[in-house]
Amino acid sequence: MRTGFSDSVLQLIVKTSTDLPPDVRAAMNSAMGAEPGATQSGQALAIIAQNIDQAADCEGAICQDTGMPTFEVKVPIGANQIWMREKIREAVADATRRGKLRPNSVDSITGENSGSNLGPGTPIIHFDQWEKDEIEIKLILKGGGCENMNAQYSVPCELPHLGRVDRNLDGVRKCILHAIWNAQGKGCSPGAVGVCIGGDRTSGYAHAKEQLFRTLDDVNLDPRLAEVESSIMGTVNTLGIGTMGFGGNVSLIGCKIGMLNRLPACFFVSVAYDCWAFRRLGVRLDARDGSIKQWLYRDPSHPLIAMADQAGFTRTGREIPLTAPISEEQVRSLRVGDVVMVSGRVYTGRDAVHAYLMTHDPPVDLHGAVLYHCGPVVAKQDGGWKVTAAGPTTSIREEPYQADIIHRYGVRAVIGKGGMGAKTLGALKDSGAVYLNAIGGAAQFYARCIERTDDVSLMEFGTPEAMWHLWVHDFPAIVTMDAHGNSLHKDVETESGKQLEALQTV
Ligand code: SF4
Repeated sequence: MRTGFSDSVLQLIVKTSTDLPPDVRAAMNSAMGAEPGATQSGQALAIIAQNIDQAADCEGAICQDTGMPTFEVKVPIGANQIWMREKIREAVADATRRGKLRPNSVDSITGENSGSNLGPGTPIIHFDQWEKDEIEIKLILKGGGCENMNAQYSVPCELPHLGRVDRNLDGVRKCILHAIWNAQGKGCSPGAVGVCIGGDRTSGYAHAKEQLFRTLDDVNLDPRLAEVESSIMGTVNTLGIGTMGFGGNVSLIGCKIGMLNRLPACFFVSVAYDCWAFRRLGVRLDARDGSIKQWLYRDPSHPLIAMADQAGFTRTGREIPLTAPISEEQVRSLRVGDVVMVSGRVYTGRDAVHAYLMTHDPPVDLHGAVLYHCGPVVAKQDGGWKVTAAGPTTSIREEPYQADIIHRYGVRAVIGKGGMGAKTLGALKDSGAVYLNAIGGAAQFYARCIERTDDVSLMEFGTPEAMWHLWVHDFPAIVTMDAHGNSLHKDVETESGKQLEALQTV
């Protein structure tokens, strides 16, 4: 049991982080079939498909944000849960050391990173007993971008575009549609939602997240909930949110609803939004030696079918090369919808760097610079650094800072995902800068666009939050906010809001 259990948990973590389960692959394949290849959503899906293959091939993290590890463990009566908790924690730290998990556990006040994914409340481990003589462990890795898109509604209420929401299944449907619309591309759509009707504020969110352990293709045993799931899946894609919020035919790949009893005074609808990088797997273990008896959600005897049908980013011939440092003239020539291939120096910066730059001079000259909202996975190699996973993080978190940083330091391009707000859009226009949307979660794909990692500043913030000095080549991204006041994000949000209203009249 002793070594077998630890090895099995480590295998589970590594597989979950690096290999998307077959039901999610199938749903993403359907999404690819529904989007024309030359559209922005089609191009984004091609990158995602390639990224999924690359991650499985090299056993690298599918997305650099390996999320909050959440374990659901079922044990035989009498099993030692204290010992198992400790072994699971050790396996999480081991996977982090091996670069399969990004160090993601930070002190909530100081922001100090524990470096091991261990800390108060992390990882999350829930135990349950059952009558069987084997151990079942399920694991989900849900990242911060989609976690921020979770929503909880206290019904009755009024919602934009949807009007009054009552305490019935139609009200539940409205809450779910609102959560998906509100997420736009910020949670790396096309995503999936787990929903709980009822419970209290705490149990509602927990039960909503538990629904994400169901496979995307199952059918709810409660016919009333099955009907709502099917109604959501039948209508949601008319919203036109598309991949990464670029506009398109597929906005959601799954909707799973559960139900708990509630207090008479409360009616909560809790929605757990997960991204396309929907990483969850499970194992059944022999309780005597801890070895893996069976994998859940995947069948190792079935060979993996590649997601991408070709190697390389699908070029249309209209891509625009953009080499840093970038001039104002170059930036002003770009328009929303242009696909650019970025080369040269790129600096990473996310929450801690942005807050720092509001009160301190930058450690590097940012005039003409490209700032990348990214918290990479980085490994030490040959006395230097190697970035092993480097997709974009959700940009809207930097909205309170971004305009000032563009004005003050002359940044010409910001790369991120999900778009930014009105203040940043104004700064792009006034200062001459652009917002470039990279494909969220495509961490392996973008890591391969990084030729070298030359240096790092502000390492005291920890690996994901430090400012990494990257040298990139042909890094593809889409102009979604330009220097002329245009925003694809604003347009898609407005249009999908109209579609939401139209759904009420169907
Ligand atoms: S795919 Fe997007 S939302 Fe999901 S973990 Fe990665 S960055 Fe976060």
